[in-house]
Order: sequence, then structure tokens, then C-alpha cells
Amino acid sequence: MAGIELAGVSTVYPNGVRAVDALDLTVADGEFFALLGPSGCGKTTLLRTIAGLEQASSGSVSIGGADVTRLEPGVRKVAMVFQDYALFPHMTVSENIAYPLRVRRAPKPERAETAARTAAGLGLAGLLERRPAQLSGGQQQRVALARAMAMSAEVLLLDEPLSNLDARLRLEARTFLKRLQRDLGLTTVFVTHDQAEALAMADRIAVMSEGRIRQLGSPRDVFQRPADTFVANFIGSTPMNLLPAQVRNGRVEVAGAHLDPGGPHPDAPVTVGIRPEYLHEAPEGITGTVSIVENLGVTSLVTLECPQDVTVGLTVPEHEEPPVGSVLTVAPRPGRLLLYDSDTGQLT
Ligand code: ATP
Repeated sequence: MAGIELAGVSTVYPNGVRAVDALDLTVADGEFFALLGPSGCGKTTLLRTIAGLEQASSGSVSIGGADVTRLEPGVRKVAMVFQDYALFPHMTVSENIAYPLRVRRAPKPERAETAARTAAGLGLAGLLERRPAQLSGGQQQRVALARAMAMSAEVLLLDEPLSNLDARLRLEARTFLKRLQRDLGLTTVFVTHDQAEALAMADRIAVMSEGRIRQLGSPRDVFQRPADTFVANFIGSTPMNLLPAQVRNGRVEVAGAHLDPGGPHPDAPVTVGIRPEYLHEAPEGITGTVSIVENLGVTSLVTLECPQDVTVGLTVPEHEEPPVGSVLTVAPRPGRLLLYDSDTGQLT
């Protein structure tokens, strides 16, 4: 069993920056867990605190039920892949990947076999005899990943492990990583600033800002019901519509339209949240003029200029694009309208 438990963990740097702030977090044994957030929110510091590369200033870190707060990284039984790879320059790819097995004194044939198998899975089969200096950045990154996997630690900590790969390799490596993680039952904490990657790979996601967790949930939870406007803004390939509105007499007044709030709600100023994917043309709703149409591949993003200076985005199937200048009326699909408190930004 190798779950991770953080209780009241703060990590403060000597210059006084509180990069992780009184954070509680439980990662289950075998879970694939993503730490997601903008640059500087404390993701890497949190990962390094789990690994023992940074000391928690307060609180406790447990791995597999044992308190490791004061233990050195080497005895925490975690494998970590860094943003800067840290490969051994004088060793070949094969030797780099098999290094953890050499440390364990595994026999040579086993080392070579493990290196070859892991390398093949990450598209490195033809490169086993090269040295790191003879590899591209993305190839080096995959060697670092392969080496971490060969450590057979129960906990794998990954800091942006796919960030240097091109779009296609990234998708392949995602699938490989996810399959390997599941087959080996590795408890994995994965740091990324890429919300699409977190949504695609993780069992659960913690969305962070300023050293704290803003929302923790399944990809579906954070996509469909962002807990606040920060998360709503951060998650989704097309930004969520966040529109100033007013609830009056059980209706939501927004951009000159009166929408159903989907349940009882007191009269109050609110921010309406609707994903572009959940808006569709309807007989009644928000009316606006098409100003921009952007092709996203299978769908297109249509921008509508609406009354009260409100701009609304909606996605439509690529072959159903309305012409620029035409007038559309759109409404949210049932249950897809979210109301946020205008002062606190919290989901109501
Ligand atoms: P990124 O995605 O850019 O890597 P991050 O979310 O991983 O960002 P961290 O690297 O954990 O964020 O940084 C969190 C905060 O701590 C930032 O304000 C950063 O400037 C600060 N910080 C990071 N490392 C140090 C350090 N060694 N000394 C002092 N402050 C640091």
C-alpha cells in the first residue's frame, strides 16, 4: 500500500515565500493524481515536499501509512522525474534507464531486458546505445521517464513529464504512461499546467492557486461544476462564459434575456457560468450577432456580441457554422447553467 497523506503542510522558502499553504491532501493507493494550476501556484514545491527535496515547514507527510516528514528523499521509496531530466551524461540510454536496477544489483540480462522493454514503450527503441547529448529534448525527457519507471518504486512523482514532446508524441506518451501506471498500480502524482492533459489522464485533479487547493475532484467534477470562477476560467479548452447577471423573481436576467436558474435562488447579483459546449440555438434565450467564427477542427467556436456589452462563445459542429453578421438566439442545455456569487466567485 502506498497512498500519500498530507496534513496541514506548509512549505515556506527562506525568502519568506509561502509556496504551499496549510494544505491537506490524500492520494489513494494506485491513484493517478494531477496537480494542476498556473505558473507559480506551488505545484512543483508540493511535489518536492512529497519527495523530501523540500522540507515541510509545518504539518506532516505520510507515504504508505508511515510518517516520512523528517526522512531523506533516498529512503522515501519514491521515483521522481524532474523538468530538467538529470540524466547521467556519460551513460548510454540503456544504462541510464537500467541505472536503478544496477543500484539494486540486478543481473545484467535483467537490466538490459527492462531497459529495452521500457524504452520500446516510450518510442526509444532505436536509441539505446546513444548518450544524452545525442538526443533531442523530448527524447531525453522520455529517457528520464523510463528510468523512473524502472525504479519500481511504489510512488511515482512526475513534474511536467511530457512538456517537451510534440503534440503527437505527447498523445502517445500519455496513453503509454496511463496504461503502465494502471498495470503496475503505481500511485502517481503528476504536475501539469495543461488542463487538457490533467482532464485526460487523471483519476482526480487538485486545481491549485497561491499554495492552496481551490477544487479537488474527478475530471468530470472540475469540468462540469467548477467550484469557483478561478477554476471555471482555468479548466476547458474554450473558456467558460462568465457573464454578469441578476436573479430577480426566480429568473436570471443576463444580456437582455431571462433564463431559468434551474432551481430556487434568492434575488441577488450573480455571475452566470455556461460552457460554450453547453449552449445551443433555441427559440428563446440570449440573442446576439455573430462576430467571429474560429475553426477548432470537429467544432467551431462562434463569438456572439450581445446586449449590455456581453460577449458569448458557443461551439457548433464545424459544418453548421453560422455566417458572420447573422443573428442567433442561444440557451444553455438543461442543468448546464451555473450561478456564482458575484462577490466571492463561489458556486452557489
Ligand atoms: P511552474 O509551473 O512555473 O513550475 P509551480 O506552480 O510549480 O510553477 P513553484 O515552482 O512551486 O510553482 O513556485 C511556487 C512559488 O514559490 C513561486 O512564487 C516561486 O517564485 C517560489 N519559489 C519556488 N522556488 C523557490 C526557491 N527555491 N526559493 C524561493 N522561492 C521559490
